[in-house]
Amino acid sequence: MIEGSIQPEAKRLYHVLLRIVADQSETLGAFPEVSDAHAAGNLDAFGALVDAGLIRHDSETGLVTAVLPFVSGDPATLVMLDGDEEQQRRAASIPDAFALAPLLDRSVRIDDACPTCGGLVTVLTNPDRIGSKQPRSAVATRLSDGNVRLACSPEHAQDALNASGDGEAVMISIESLLISAHEAYAAVLP
Ligand SMILES: [Zn+2]
Repeated sequence: MIEGSIQPEAKRLYHVLLRIVADQSETLGAFPEVSDAHAAGNLDAFGALVDAGLIRHDSETGLVTAVLPFVSGDPATLVMLDGDEEQQRRAASIPDAFALAPLLDRSVRIDDACPTCGGLVTVLTNPDRIGSKQPRSAVATRLSDGNVRLACSPEHAQDALNASGDGEAVMISIESLLISAHEAYAAVLP
């Protein structure tokens, strides 16, 4: 969840940085350097984004390490912009990955392995709706610590919940993840 309100100049800089990461030709490529970030906006706007938790940077190397939902390292959720395997990026988590389609106004594929059987679960998200789910029975699990996984079926989601020993873990729909992402990133949606 984004902390505080985001001023227009900071929001503009955020989208510049988000686009740099989204549009880079190299899959899983480098993030913008802080000097680039400053050139694209101004120090106040950059600082506001850091304070809001939207940007993380290494003050020693000057490298931006995250433009949420994008992050540069592991662990991370792999996403594919436009569903294109040549356009892989890393998102901070599955809930964060669902914000990418509305933020970028393009479709984004999110993959996970079912926590019970290990089978591939793929969701294609559009800015305002879920495009497709594979398998169609896919749902999600959310543990009390906020960790979310995609499961191939309600049965396997229930098995994962039982195995977690987490009394507050719940099964949620894929659609609810897109709604939650809209809420979490409302301050910077276009
Ligand atoms: Zn499964």
